[in-house]
Amino acid sequence: MNGSESFTDRANPGALISFVVPIYNEELTLPHLLPALDAEVFSKLTQSHELILVNDGSRDGSLPALLELERSRHDVRVVNLSRNFGHQIAVTAGMDAARGDAVVIMDADMQDPPRVCLELIEEWVKGSDVVYAQRRTRQDTLFKKATAAAFYKSLSHLADINIPENTGDFRLMSRSVVDELARYGEHDRFLRGMAAHVGFTQKAVPFDRDERIAGETGYPLRKMLKLSADGILGFSKVPLQLISRLGFFVAGVSLLGIIYAIVTKFFFPQIAVAGWAFTVVAIFFVGGIQLIMLGILGSYIGRIFEEVKGRPLYSIDDSFRRRS
Ligand code: UDP
Ligand code: MG
Repeated sequence: MNGSESFTDRANPGALISFVVPIYNEELTLPHLLPALDAEVFSKLTQSHELILVNDGSRDGSLPALLELERSRHDVRVVNLSRNFGHQIAVTAGMDAARGDAVVIMDADMQDPPRVCLELIEEWVKGSDVVYAQRRTRQDTLFKKATAAAFYKSLSHLADINIPENTGDFRLMSRSVVDELARYGEHDRFLRGMAAHVGFTQKAVPFDRDERIAGETGYPLRKMLKLSADGILGFSKVPLQLISRLGFFVAGVSLLGIIYAIVTKFFFPQIAVAGWAFTVVAIFFVGGIQLIMLGILGSYIGRIFEEVKGRPLYSIDDSFRRRS
């Protein structure tokens, strides 16, 4: 926040709030989303608003529906990505397009209840820069709940910074935070980690996460695993440090083996020959460990490779770009 702006300005019609919603195959949820946003959020705001809908390479009828919305409403802008880049990149594209003094990120499927946006905005008006919605409860499959719980537990153990548990990307960020995040050039993006990393005044708002209103999840297991890896590899060096810890452990074990060999040779020579099983097991054990560790090294090298390439994060298909 700059010196001339006071927090009360944040409640004025002069303040603009951008709502960023990533869209991947959401033709069934769109007819629910807009009326809900209008009734529960837009009509109640004292500020001005804009709605940025980012089409992340949908394969269904989402794009024509979005373009129709853009034509018929003055408050809607569509950013159309040239293919499916994934949720985190779609949100980034929306944040880059947003012009608001505050930016609210939410899902299209109404799992992030629109009415909670008002509470997020209220905290921003009071002076917070990052207001994240924190799940009290969630309506998801048992599998999703269990894997998410395991992920947040390991992340909080491993991460260098404190990433709040049970938060998704449903949050509000002030202009300063959005501008700062635009300077984070990493390609494997884990926005909730980056938003924690950036600092500023952070505030949690508890909420109950609903079920998806229609359609299917765009986050199959494969994408969930990629996101977890981005969270852990992007915010922790512990997997790398494991290599040396394990190295010490394996060295310790082999030392015990040497002591065993010496003791049997000098004191129990009658049992000293049966060594082949030990040798074979040891070779497999060490080989396995080496492969695991090489895998971890590989993950980091893969990330270095991604960054060094310096590719743009996304490309916008400009045949539909709004001329404004
Ligand atoms: N999404 C996206 N790109 C993708 C997958 C999902 O933009 O590759 C969007 C999707 O349209 C929705 C949000 O990200 O607005 C959250 O996705 P979803 O509800 O499918 O995930 P879940 O809630 O099951 O984790
Ligand atoms: Mg969802």
